[in-house]
Amino acid sequence: MPKAQETILEIDLKALKQNFEHLKSRISNGTHFMAVVKAFAYGSDACEIANYLQKLDVYYFAVAFVHEGVALRKAGITKPILVLHPQAANFNLLIENCLEPNLYNAKILNEFISIASAEQQTNYPIHIKFNTGLNRLGFSENDVNSIGEKLKETTAVKVKSIFSHLAASEDLSEREFTLNQIQKFKTIAENITNTLGYKPMLHICNTSGILNYPEAHFDMVRSGIGLYGFGNSKKENKNFTPIGTLKTIISQIHTINKGESIGYNRAFKTERLLKSATLPIGHADGIGRQYGKGKGYVIINNQKAYILGNVCMDMIMVNVTDIDCKEGDEVIVFGPNTTAEKLAETASTISYELITGISQRVKRNFIGN
Ligand SMILES: *Cc1c(COP(=O)(O)O)cnc(C)c1O
Repeated sequence: MPKAQETILEIDLKALKQNFEHLKSRISNGTHFMAVVKAFAYGSDACEIANYLQKLDVYYFAVAFVHEGVALRKAGITKPILVLHPQAANFNLLIENCLEPNLYNAKILNEFISIASAEQQTNYPIHIKFNTGLNRLGFSENDVNSIGEKLKETTAVKVKSIFSHLAASEDLSEREFTLNQIQKFKTIAENITNTLGYKPMLHICNTSGILNYPEAHFDMVRSGIGLYGFGNSKKENKNFTPIGTLKTIISQIHTINKGESIGYNRAFKTERLLKSATLPIGHADGIGRQYGKGKGYVIINNQKAYILGNVCMDMIMVNVTDIDCKEGDEVIVFGPNTTAEKLAETASTISYELITGISQRVKRNFIGN
């Protein structure tokens, strides 16, 4: 692997493939796989990732917003793409790009049907989401009849799938709550199938749902974080490899005397002679200010170097007093060994936030293809 000469996010496609294969080994042959590539494939690069996964046994892709789906189409993705949170303002664009909307309440269902009808569509694939306890997006179980009536009036759309989302699939202390969500979903699915007179696909599991609730895989599963290398528990993390390594270099080393300060607002004051290293990565790259003041760290020559004082926009200063290092040396912010999950914990957040927050100015390099 080439040594970093600037801040880069290295993406290992071999690890992506291994994670995919592990997830596939946890579902039955009859269950389809939907790869969730929203938010730039969790910060890696949705077009590259989707193009790679498209050659594997992926049945569907999912993104959050219409423009993310349009970018995938432009990059040559031909498989079906579910848009998890479309807005009516983009419905024409959605149809133009053969993207499939999640419709989650009466307002958006009506809006979509009228646009699809105006565009003379027939059997345009739609996906209906039900709220079973997350209380975020979705029809209520009481809406089944009114949805059925609405759909009987039109041939513009056809329900490709019925789905829901688990609130606490990674949290085994909420097992009872999750089983209740699954049961509710089964009841809804049965009712809507009877109402429609045909059987749409069913899906409810995200990555932790796949791993913890094998009885709830239904026709398809939706995985994001697992593909990118996180199993959301100590036990499951062993089966995955984080695909991203965020690397940078040491731009400058300072020796700082007792009584001096480091960085903006003099947030760190030295109590002894100290050696600091300045790195070209800051909050504009996705290392938020909450990692500052000694909470977060990077790895230099296999040792932890903690962040000194405030995180700047384009730089951080780290403590290398006891680390053998020099200007130009490589720095690992996170990777397969010191993971984004561990670094995220230092700032009381989760891997999802840290990896999706690595900004677009950080160059992505792909290896392992
Ligand atoms: C983001 C998302 C997923 C993927 O969740 P992971 O925990 O990353 O596997 C699945 N379903 C929905 C509805 C989502 O919003």
